[in-house]
Amino acid sequence: MLETPHVAVGIAIATKFPNPWIAIPLAFASHFLLDKVPHWNPHLYTETQKNGRPSKNSTTIAIVDIATALAIGSIFAYKSLPDIQMAVLILACSLASVLSDVIKYPYYYFHLRQEWLVKWVNFERSIQVDTKSVFWGIVTQGLVIAASMWWIL
Ligand SMILES: [Zn+2]
Repeated sequence: MLETPHVAVGIAIATKFPNPWIAIPLAFASHFLLDKVPHWNPHLYTETQKNGRPSKNSTTIAIVDIATALAIGSIFAYKSLPDIQMAVLILACSLASVLSDVIKYPYYYFHLRQEWLVKWVNFERSIQVDTKSVFWGIVTQGLVIAASMWWIL
């Protein structure tokens, strides 16, 4: 799944579970549940296997996605001020919600092939539920974002 819907759920968790000992592990765990929602992703892994690195197109999508996720996390953190604790929790949950994917980026872009990292990349791949249609694979993620916003408000 793209990072933006993951972060949207992470933010929702932060706002609904103000206890960091609950919210942060929950945000981390939400990642694996969301990867089970049928979705479309740029094919970073397949392209890396084939050409040694992800394509320009996929990289552009990944950058836009990460920038959007960062923007949403920052906006909600900023909006929660002057409650600094909540702002930090929102940022922490945003990071926790995508940590499982962030770990994989050195594999794609810096050619790191440590055994544990290869194992993690394979594990992450094994839990993904991909849609055949790009359209429906984007729609499901739009719904996850919409549901998170509805949950927050
Ligand atoms: Zn993932």
